Amino acid sequence: MSRQTIATVDLSAVESNLHLLQSLAPNSKTVAVVKADAYGNGAVQVAKHIQAHVDIFAVALFDEARELREHGISLPILIMQGPHEEHELAQTIHLNLVWMIHNDLQLNWLSESKLSAAELDARLWFKFDSGMHRLGFALNRFSALKNQYPQYFSTNTVIATHLACADEAAPAHDAQSQITAFLDEVQTQGFGLSIANSAATMAHSLSRQHYNRLGIAMYGSSPFDSAAQAKITPPLQNVLTLRAKIIALRTIPKGDTVGYGATWRAPRESLIATVAIGYADGYPRHAPTGTPAFCNNQIIPLVGRVSMDMLTFDVSDLDEVNVDDNVELWGANLSINDVAQHIGTIGYELMTRLSARVPRQYLGIK
Ligand SMILES: *Cc1c(COP(=O)(O)O)cnc(C)c1O
Repeated sequence: MSRQTIATVDLSAVESNLHLLQSLAPNSKTVAVVKADAYGNGAVQVAKHIQAHVDIFAVALFDEARELREHGISLPILIMQGPHEEHELAQTIHLNLVWMIHNDLQLNWLSESKLSAAELDARLWFKFDSGMHRLGFALNRFSALKNQYPQYFSTNTVIATHLACADEAAPAHDAQSQITAFLDEVQTQGFGLSIANSAATMAHSLSRQHYNRLGIAMYGSSPFDSAAQAKITPPLQNVLTLRAKIIALRTIPKGDTVGYGATWRAPRESLIATVAIGYADGYPRHAPTGTPAFCNNQIIPLVGRVSMDMLTFDVSDLDEVNVDDNVELWGANLSINDVAQHIGTIGYELMTRLSARVPRQYLGIK
């Protein structure tokens, strides 16, 4: 490998974060969410590393489950959007799948499939809409659905919902009312329940039911904004660190500009470092001047536009800097959430948009 632009993924940190979340909810089972290539961290590697410590994996889409199977992952996999096409159901047993059913079309496919109720036992989750209004049956249909399809509602069936505001600090927000509305409708019915994502697991004890669906916090990024984050202890361990090398250094006179569109003008004589990573690698093109990176133990500001394969930083204030030095775009020394905040996005997006061109290097492989 010659290009030194690299994302290191610390698998032992994933495991530590997982254990931390599990310690908050010792009575819950763990659904490890590995959709979107484990948020860019590598679904196969992450799944292999944690499979002995979780109860089930979850992905968004059928194709994501198939990829895990092709790489020898054998735990059941929950498809959180359910089948997108009827034929996917035919692979249920062969691929050991669990379906989150969220609409009537999927229910029809299920009842028309060749799968018997016995074959589907422990393979069905039903999603209810408790207020997010994105996916799920209306909560007031719960009793009717259960009566209409008694063959799909066994004690192994899981009833799930998803919270809109689990990650917000304000105390009087919707999460609590969503949880209550959901529990009022389904709690006493003897089914498995699943409400919590990472944020809810960390912040809302009532949301910790039979199964918690853990994603972002396992990957070391806090789901909370900084104010709320301060209340969460102990802190999560960093998993992903993105680094690239300085491939050019030049001094430019005061008043000269840097990069496409000449959007940044040097307010003083400046030392400019060109770093070998760009928007083709998933670094957002709309990152503004001033977005931080970390180099030689100091923070440096991005200046000028993000190019396809390069970034430019003002390194005038560094004590020492040379071509071939490493720049950390985010990771162990610079929180992905801080960088995301400058760019107007969230850690989830920065992680998941890292492109395939960036090689992943795994630490902590057992
Ligand atoms: C992605 C996802 C999760 C995981 O959420 P995090 O915030 O990453 O913990 C949980 N549940 C559903 C339905 C999801 O789509």
